[in-house]
Amino acid sequence: MLGPVILAASRSDRMRRLISAAPVTKQVVDRFIPGEAVTDIVPIVKDLTAKGLELTMDVVGEDITTPEQATAARDAYLELIDHLKQLQLGERVEMSIKLSMFGQALPGGHELALANVRPVVEAAAAIGTTVTLDAEDHTTLDSMFAIHEELRKDFPQTGCVIQAYLFRTEADARRLAASGSRVRLVKGAYKEPAEVAYQQKHEIDKAYVRILRILMEGEGYPMIGSHDPRLIAIAQELAHQAGRKLDEYEFQMLYGIRSEEHLRLAAEGHRMRVYTAYGTDWYGYFMRRLAEKPANLRFFLRSMVSKG
Ligand SMILES: Cc1cc2nc3c(=O)[nH]c(=O)nc-3n(C[C@H](O)[C@H](O)[C@H](O)COP(=O)(O)OP(=O)(O)OC[C@H]3O[C@@H](n4cnc5c(N)ncnc54)[C@H](O)[C@@H]3O)c2cc1C
Repeated sequence: MLGPVILAASRSDRMRRLISAAPVTKQVVDRFIPGEAVTDIVPIVKDLTAKGLELTMDVVGEDITTPEQATAARDAYLELIDHLKQLQLGERVEMSIKLSMFGQALPGGHELALANVRPVVEAAAAIGTTVTLDAEDHTTLDSMFAIHEELRKDFPQTGCVIQAYLFRTEADARRLAASGSRVRLVKGAYKEPAEVAYQQKHEIDKAYVRILRILMEGEGYPMIGSHDPRLIAIAQELAHQAGRKLDEYEFQMLYGIRSEEHLRLAAEGHRMRVYTAYGTDWYGYFMRRLAEKPANLRFFLRSMVSKG
């Protein structure tokens, strides 16, 4: 019930101003977004990789309004890649990119986003890693998939994300699985209408399993983006049935959520990648994390009251 309300608030400028300025917000935000600058994040990258985990990095900031901001977003990723190169951690850390941050929603946005993302994909490849294009709301996906296909002509390792809650996703999964792509499957984090998406949790979970089977039986590299213990167990079983070895798929979870499970799966020999977000424009990312679990919202509100 609360999730859709929070997701609606995530699009409101008034709520953004209120929540961003609340005195205690930063402490709560840190659980999910553990730094603002690349220098804050380097110790975390070192720590997680030393524990046998891999990472995918998200420089937050999807709500841009000018081409200059899109260029700045590109440069922030290039700066990050430069740090990873110095740390010699390129092969352990990939990038996750929201094309909206690279200008996709601006006039001429498709071309602009492609022009901005290409140098990042090139720089990532030069240090032995890759980029995954995140999935945003359903109106952006045709453009995202077209950019993904274009990038894969030169950089076949470029990945993309598909969302189990959308009706279209089974067809997308078949196409991507046949093409041998890296694909992260998630449930989906945006507020989508009933015309395009399942609304009930049990329907989304069932779709997730159907789509996961397609990916596991296909030619590509499945990335299971979920914290759901039932789906993780099913993924292991489907991988086994499809004859996949441990390095032929991976699990991915968000920084700050079920961290002990990250370590448990890595200790079992699984590839486990932690999606780690950082940056100053954290509002949209943070609100989606609140919407996923009402207890997060209760914790957030309680901390506001106790400090107030
Ligand atoms: C690596 C990764 C990348 C993602 N990329 C995208 C993307 O590109 N596009 C997109 O639309 N969505 C993305 N998502 C978000 C995803 O769509 C879901 O909203 C999110 O993962 C919650 O779904 P779940 O599968 O974990 O299952 P749920 O059923 O929501 O959660 C299962 C359990 O995990 C724990 N949990 C889940 N979320 C939280 C939380 N916020 N706080 C605390 N505990 C929690 C709880 O214990 C919960 O019971 C991504 C998720 C992951 C893990």
